[in-house]
Amino acid sequence: MKRLSLVLLLFTLTLAGCATNPVTGKSELALVSQGEEITIGEQQYVPVQQSQGGQYQVDITLTLYVQDVGNRLAAVSDTPLPYEFVVLNNSTPNAWALPGGKIAINRGLLVTLENEAELAAVLGHEIVHAAARHGAKSMERSMLLQGAVALTAIGVSGTDYGNYIMEGAQLGSHLISTQYGRGAELESDYYGMQYMARAGYDPSAAITLQEKFVRLSQGRPSSWLDGLFASHPPSQQRVDKNRETAMEIKAGQERSWIVGRDTYQANIAYLKSKSEAYVAFDQAMTLARNKEIPAAENRIEKAIRMEPRESRFYGFKGNLLFNKNAYTEALTQYNKAIALDPDYYEFFLGRGMTHSRLGQREQATRDLIRSNQLLPTAIATIELGNLSLAAGDRNAAKQYYAAVAQSGGSLGQGATDSYIRLDIIDNPDRYFSTSAEKRNGRIVVNVVNRTNIPVSSGIVQYSALVNGKPRQGQSDTGAIAPAGGIRINTGWQISDADHVDRLNIQVVDVRL
Ligand SMILES: [Zn+2]
Repeated sequence: MKRLSLVLLLFTLTLAGCATNPVTGKSELALVSQGEEITIGEQQYVPVQQSQGGQYQVDITLTLYVQDVGNRLAAVSDTPLPYEFVVLNNSTPNAWALPGGKIAINRGLLVTLENEAELAAVLGHEIVHAAARHGAKSMERSMLLQGAVALTAIGVSGTDYGNYIMEGAQLGSHLISTQYGRGAELESDYYGMQYMARAGYDPSAAITLQEKFVRLSQGRPSSWLDGLFASHPPSQQRVDKNRETAMEIKAGQERSWIVGRDTYQANIAYLKSKSEAYVAFDQAMTLARNKEIPAAENRIEKAIRMEPRESRFYGFKGNLLFNKNAYTEALTQYNKAIALDPDYYEFFLGRGMTHSRLGQREQATRDLIRSNQLLPTAIATIELGNLSLAAGDRNAAKQYYAAVAQSGGSLGQGATDSYIRLDIIDNPDRYFSTSAEKRNGRIVVNVVNRTNIPVSSGIVQYSALVNGKPRQGQSDTGAIAPAGGIRINTGWQISDADHVDRLNIQVVDVRL
C-alpha cells in the first residue's frame, strides 16, 4: 500500500513539476494545479461557510461594502482568481481564505476594525494566502508527508462540528484551520500591504491592525485564540515588519492615502448597534451547552427582542424547543428562521428532525436532503436512512448508513450497526465464517457470527461430493450471539477411506 502510493506520488511529481509563484516570483514545486485549487475552493466554500455559522444576512449592505473593498484589492493582486468575499454570522474574530480565492470574514472581526484601510489590511492579507498558494502548499506538504496522492485523503483537524460533518466538508475546514506557518504569515502581511498601496489604501493600517491584535491576544478569552489567532498568530515581529514595509512603500510615493474611517463606521453602524443582541445569543448558546436551559431561553428571548430580524435567534429557539420535545412550537420557530434565511443548513436539519418526530416523513425527507445539500451531516444522513427504512426502501437506507459509516466520527459505529442489520439479511454469507471437521465419524459444521449483532435464527445449507456422489442438507442455526458460534452435526457418516470434495457451507435466511 505504502509502496503503491509512493509510485503514484512520484508519477504525479513528474507530471506537475515546478512552477513560478505568481506573487513571490520564486520557483517552487506545484503538485496542485491552479485549476484544482479553484475547484477545491468552489467545492468547499459553501460547506465551510455553513459549518461556521453561514452568511450574515440581516444587513446585506455590509456584505456589499466588504465585497467592494475586497474586489478593489483583488483587482490589483498578482494572481487572477475567481475571488469572492462573504461575511459570516459568527462572533469569533476571524477571517480565512480557501485555495482559489474564496474568502470569508466574520462579523466578530468586522466590529473590532476602525476604518476601511484596516479592512483592506485583513482582506489583502487573505488574498495573498490564496494568490501565493499558501493553502495549496500546505495541502502539498500533507500529501508529501502522508505519501498520499488523493486530495480527499488529507487529514481532518478538530472543529466544533468535526464529529458531525461528513468527509467532503472536512477537507475545507482543514485547509482554513491549518497554520500556514510564520513564513507564509509574513509573506501575506508584506504582499497584502503592497496590494493595499496599489489600491490606494494607507499601508500603515496594517501596523495599527497588528498592534491591536497583539494587544487583544493578551488576556483574551480562548475564542480569540481559537479563531483569528490560531490561523494567523499575531506577534511583535509582525508589527515591526509591517512598520518597515510601510516605510519602504511610502518612501517611494507622495500621495494621499485612503483611511476611510467615516465610511467604515457608517457601514458597520447597524451591526454595532446590535452588538448586545449577539452577546445575548452567544451567552444563550454557552448556557445551553452547560444545560442551563431556562437561563438560555431567557437570553435568546432577549436577543430576539433586540434584533427581531436575525434568523439564527429563531433557529436556536427552535433547537431549545426540539430538545424539550415541544415539536409543534419548534416547527413555528424553524419556519420563522427559514423565512428570514432559506440558506442555512441548521434550520432545515432542525425542521427535518422535527417533522420526523411528528411522523411527517415526506416533509422530513425534503428538509433533511436540503440540509445535506448545504452541509452534509451524519445526523441528517442517519435520519434519512431511518426514513427510507420506514418507507420500505432498504437499499436507500443502506446507502445512507454506509455513507455515515465510512465517514467515521462518533455516529459512525451506530451507522455501521444499522447497515449490518439490513445487509446481514440480504447478504448473510458476508457476516459468518464457516468451517467443517470430522468428529466421531461424522461431519460437523461450525458457524461463527462475525458481527456484534445477535441473530435469532437462520438456516445453514451444506453440500459436498462424498466419494464422487453429491450430498446436501440443511439445518436451523437457532440463535447465535454476537461473535458467538454454533456447531451442527450433518449426520453424514464418514470413514477414513471416504473422499470428501467441494464442501460448501452457506448461511441463508437470517432473522434478527
Ligand atoms: Zn494569515
